[in-house]
Amino acid sequence: MLDSLQGHSAPPVCPASGGASLRSAGGGTAAAGAALGNNVKSVDHAAAHERNLSRFASKWAAANILKNHDAALSKRLSHCGYVARSFEVTLERKAETGAAGFDGLKTCASVWCCPCCSPRISARRKDELDLLMSGARAEGHAVVMLTLTARHDRQMKLAPFLDALKLAKKRLRQRREWRGLPFVGSVTATETTHGRNGWHPHFHEILLLDCLPADALALVEGLRAAWLSCLAAFGLSGADAAFQVQSAQAAGAYVAKFGAAEELALQGSKRGRNGSRGPWQLLNDARDGDAQAAAVWAEYALAFRGRRQLVWSRGLKARFGVGETSDDEAAAEVDPAPPAAEVLRAWAGAGEPWRAARRRRVALVHAAETGGDLRAAEYGLTDAERWRRLGGESLIDPPD
Ligand SMILES: [Zn+2]
Repeated sequence: MLDSLQGHSAPPVCPASGGASLRSAGGGTAAAGAALGNNVKSVDHAAAHERNLSRFASKWAAANILKNHDAALSKRLSHCGYVARSFEVTLERKAETGAAGFDGLKTCASVWCCPCCSPRISARRKDELDLLMSGARAEGHAVVMLTLTARHDRQMKLAPFLDALKLAKKRLRQRREWRGLPFVGSVTATETTHGRNGWHPHFHEILLLDCLPADALALVEGLRAAWLSCLAAFGLSGADAAFQVQSAQAAGAYVAKFGAAEELALQGSKRGRNGSRGPWQLLNDARDGDAQAAAVWAEYALAFRGRRQLVWSRGLKARFGVGETSDDEAAAEVDPAPPAAEVLRAWAGAGEPWRAARRRRVALVHAAETGGDLRAAEYGLTDAERWRRLGGESLIDPPD
């Protein structure tokens, strides 16, 4: 699989908030349908083009928002997919899929903040979660989906909230109720949305237990009181909604759409139920001129910085043959796996021609994938101009 900037998948979005909102970036709706498919071969090129323009516009917006909060992260975002990391930059296309992308560029590998890297990383993580689910099935383990959160209001700041929630989760694992589980392993995803009642950070834990599926739900349900007391120990509180236990079917559905919900969120920025928005919806709104969304998104970006998207319990990856792939490796624009891609065009990384061509990088990928005229793409309208033609109201221009 070569994933240029084709829409694959992306980080987990809470099933309850995973935005089925379909306002495409330019106000059209064509992009929305294609976003649901993970099949590169059936990609709708016009939709992919619009989606890629939208992602780069969002990335420039992200870099701009973070300029005064985290200069290093801001720089990484603005260099990602744009500035050469090696002597040569090449535009490549894989014959088997027809997907094109650039090699030789920096990638930021920010799973929380980059609208271009995050979907690629999540596509890889989804493959890993698929191995988890099939491994659990093969070994005959019961699977339970546990969602942990706490009561929240508008006064609560995200970073300390997340820290307290994490401590509560750690404490839960030390409780005798937890230690009494026939625990095989777990994968924990950290997510947040933001809505009328402020931040709603939560953990989704996929638990593998060595027991009959019929007993698993009741066993995990038995941790409810322990969770509520762990919350209290760190100044948090919760009612029924703070502790949700769901069946293997829910875990399967979560894995099946891992990234897909975010893919939709990257498309549009309409709010979900209760006016809640995920990070990508906030970023899109910020890009489109919503100053409050920009401030909220900045708080998110700083609070999630350095956190891991998915945490596997010790030994579980090895058990199911899941290799260790870093976010950096997963974010590569051109998949290095054979067969090698055909090189369509090359530039000196430090030269003036690339500095001009990179402003048309989305156009170049589009031309490469559709058999279009590469020269016309390289010297034609810039991506920013194309974005404006699609109705992008307030593009933050790419860096020089
Ligand atoms: Zn990136």
